[in-house]
Amino acid sequence: MLDDFEEEQLIAHKILLNSVKNNKLSHAYLIETNGYPKSFDFAVSFAKYILCPHNYSNQKKCENCHQCETIDKNEFLELKIIDPDGQWIKKSQLEELQQEFSKKSIIGNKKVYIINKAEKLNISSSNSLLKFLEEPEENIIAILLTENKNQLLSTIISRCQNITLKKKNNLNALSTFEKISYILNDNETDINNYILEENNKIKLEKIIDFIEYYEENHENTIIYINKLWHDYFKERDEIYNSFTIMLYFYKDLLNDKLNKKIKIFNENIELIKKINQKNDINSLINKINVIMDLREKIKFNVNNNILMDKLIIELERCENYDRNNGSNI
Ligand SMILES: [Zn+2]
Repeated sequence: MLDDFEEEQLIAHKILLNSVKNNKLSHAYLIETNGYPKSFDFAVSFAKYILCPHNYSNQKKCENCHQCETIDKNEFLELKIIDPDGQWIKKSQLEELQQEFSKKSIIGNKKVYIINKAEKLNISSSNSLLKFLEEPEENIIAILLTENKNQLLSTIISRCQNITLKKKNNLNALSTFEKISYILNDNETDINNYILEENNKIKLEKIIDFIEYYEENHENTIIYINKLWHDYFKERDEIYNSFTIMLYFYKDLLNDKLNKKIKIFNENIELIKKINQKNDINSLINKINVIMDLREKIKFNVNNNILMDKLIIELERCENYDRNNGSNI
């Protein structure tokens, strides 16, 4: 089932899941496998996810589903898999597919075909596929799998939603920025777009810089708050997201303090160690609560200047808590 791939193919899994959930299925997907050994299973699981009337990726929820059962037995007529016949995928294979799919569907509405090793399409079969892709039928969905999409016609590539699998893509293999993008883009279908935005990368650095500056200079941070913060963060949504990122940073500080695995900010391990020299578990927990509480206030149009001043003052209280050995003053 599709959820089996969540950890290893975090981003691709999320994009495909959301396209079904949000009813934004493309007519064609081109999955570049990058040597991921389970890519064919991944494609079949996605097809299953599209075809199962329950739209559940968790099999427990469709135990009695006839569709899923017949797919597993390879007897499902609305899912067709095309493998190279000898060295190439032949034109006749695609014609056969088109013919079969032009019949009325027996069970359910959607029909899916998977072209395995799509780089094995030759000129004539490519053209025949292209015709199929150019006149998409509402209920037919194509999934093309390829090791290297550059071996396909550019006209085919451009007609598909492109998905890239990672060879080893578990959460730990992602960069901090990719992880953050994943967290913040809960409802986006195309996370790849967000990741490419260089501007967001700079902002992530600014948030980390702010935390570093605060942890060094404490209440003096207020004096430089324009340069540190307000020059970069103005919009409400953006500030809300920044607080979320800050929250994850402090959670990772706490993880480190508790000798747990750092989840997001592995790239900043040195800074985390440095900051943690001056924090104990209590002060970190209190800081996390402060950021969480203030983040809630952002939703209610709070003034940015007041918000940041309040953040620093409240964080300082957590420091005092720390210095007085657990007794608040
Ligand atoms: Zn099912």
